[in-house]
Amino acid sequence: MNATTITVPQADPGAGYRAQKAEIDAAVARALSSGWYILGQEGASFEKEFAAWQGAGRAPGARDMRAVGCANGTDALMLTLRGMGIGAGCTVVTVSHTAVATVAAIEMVGATPLLVDIDPDTFTMDAEELVAVLADPPPGLPPIRAIIPVHLYGQACDMDPMLAACREHGVMVIEDCSQAHGATLGGRKVGTMGDAACFSLYPTKNLGALGDAGVMSTEDAALADRIGAIRQYGWKERYISDGVGVNSRLDEVQAAILRVRLPLLDAANARRGQVAAAYDAALTQGGRIAPPARRIDAGHVFHQYVLRVPDRAALMARLRAEGIASAIHYPAPVHLQPAYRGRTPLGPAGCAETARAVGEVMSLPMFPELTDQQVEHVCGVLRRL
Ligand SMILES: *Cc1c(COP(=O)(O)O)cnc(C)c1O
Repeated sequence: MNATTITVPQADPGAGYRAQKAEIDAAVARALSSGWYILGQEGASFEKEFAAWQGAGRAPGARDMRAVGCANGTDALMLTLRGMGIGAGCTVVTVSHTAVATVAAIEMVGATPLLVDIDPDTFTMDAEELVAVLADPPPGLPPIRAIIPVHLYGQACDMDPMLAACREHGVMVIEDCSQAHGATLGGRKVGTMGDAACFSLYPTKNLGALGDAGVMSTEDAALADRIGAIRQYGWKERYISDGVGVNSRLDEVQAAILRVRLPLLDAANARRGQVAAAYDAALTQGGRIAPPARRIDAGHVFHQYVLRVPDRAALMARLRAEGIASAIHYPAPVHLQPAYRGRTPLGPAGCAETARAVGEVMSLPMFPELTDQQVEHVCGVLRRL
């Protein structure tokens, strides 16, 4: 590795803090001065505000959206599975091309993950394979009770065929929206199509805290109530555990920070879109590497801007020599990582596209605070490819 100074980082959560420093500092001071640090007024207000943002724009007459905050995105998935009664003796279908957290959450509740392949253009769950697996589940597995489609890199999965198949087979749909806060499909926000949605609020996500945080949303008020209890020892009433729970709470300082950021999320996503459009144009001029595929009717929020490049190492080195950082999301599929290899069931397609993608994907710098000069510097290199 050479010693070139990086002038364009791949991600920069510190830039997000500096851009809103005065508001965030004031919110943190307010939370600290309140004398109440966990599951208080800030958390309750964030849940209301997030639910309102998430639920906005749905069809008239839609049920109220509820949101429940928790410690992180992995726990949001784990709590949602538990709240639905999914655990040992259940199979949950997801993909291997995702953050390992998606699969870890399934195993945290004792359920069996079944990993299906991805569509090579969008890197999201192959809807045809999912439909086939639900119609004819692989032998030897417990019954399939839920699927977790992951709206990867900021783009919605091909939800309609999957929703129809899940409805037909009585299977729950938990959308993993950890990379897609605010993404849409046919005008519907991701997270409003399935039975529940889970969001990581990790600092680099489209909506990020300055520490760990997560949230889930649903129109099912009873499910939200159960999850609200499970996240704190199963309490409905203080000190009385109605059910068995865990500790996965949202703290007040993070909630206060998230309340500053939520109203800025749509504009931040729009800025990501501008950066993506500039990269698209530069790549088209360069002519050697295709811009990322956009699903028709999808509002992509570009958590990552991901290229497919057979000679990835060479391009990453060339960018680095120009002071531009890049990253790989993800270098290994979950089913080939040491903790999962050889024991995680795969769908009939055997994850061939997943295996091909991990050798080719690379992520360009992408965060809303990228300056026009930084974007232009990256574009200059892309035009010369
Ligand atoms: C980040 C992420 C998670 C996990 O979130 P944490 O807050 O790190 O627990 C889960 N799923 C996906 C797709 C993610 O990108």
